[in-house]
Amino acid sequence: MRCFDTHIHLDDPALEDRRTTLWQQALDAGVCGAITIGVEPKTWQRALQTASELKNVHAAMAIHPMVVANLSPNEIDQGVERLDECARTGSILAIGECGLHGPAGNFELQIKVFEQHIALAKKSHLPLLLHVYRAHAMALSVLQKHAPIDVPIVMHSYSGSAQSLADFAHFDAYFCFASAIRNPLAKKPRGAAKAVALNRLLVETDAPFQPTRGAAHSCPIDLVSIVTELASLREMPLNALAEALLHNTTRCFPSLHDCCSCNGDGVA
Ligand SMILES: [Zn+2]
Ligand SMILES: [Zn+2]
Repeated sequence: MRCFDTHIHLDDPALEDRRTTLWQQALDAGVCGAITIGVEPKTWQRALQTASELKNVHAAMAIHPMVVANLSPNEIDQGVERLDECARTGSILAIGECGLHGPAGNFELQIKVFEQHIALAKKSHLPLLLHVYRAHAMALSVLQKHAPIDVPIVMHSYSGSAQSLADFAHFDAYFCFASAIRNPLAKKPRGAAKAVALNRLLVETDAPFQPTRGAAHSCPIDLVSIVTELASLREMPLNALAEALLHNTTRCFPSLHDCCSCNGDGVA
């Protein structure tokens, strides 16, 4: 079985000492590549560096909605300019994660920055990786305002209900699931993960975040058990599901087709 982690924070300091070992462990277990996400201007270089050092790891970057309030208007504008440049030079394969984080408040600013990222994704023709937490209705109305959006939209760590999937029908939307689906009590994400059309499903660890109970942090290798759980949830043979997920990954991130060895090595 081979699988691709579409959302991980391999540059996070929590993984620092063991980054190479943990990634090698994942590669050995069948994880064939990943997109590592840089979340704020001051750590973007670290994300790019991590992607360049680890086999089959690619970078995506944006200003995360949780850090928006810590930045000056100038830092935000300079950041967006830098993202534009990274998109043009091909050092990132997606714009994200950006979006709205309900508990962070300050929505006027969050929406403004979210809209700057939408514009950038449209301009650069790169997929948009969304972090939407407790702000689904608001995020949807921002997306609708900017429709049509002719790039793929990935709902990372999708936390909406199965019924809400239809709200995204007018977008080229993918729904990405992390370790929450392994918790039998997490009825909402499990229900949504079961209901998503097979050609719209993606997987991620979001490591080191979203650890399972009792663990200090999650690890790249956890993707294998997420895919295994998803196969059992959807009552599908593991290999058939894994193949469909890889297919979705290259459809969503077309540049994976012609870069590095993911293509030949893993992502069919
Ligand atoms: Zn997130
Ligand atoms: Zn994340």
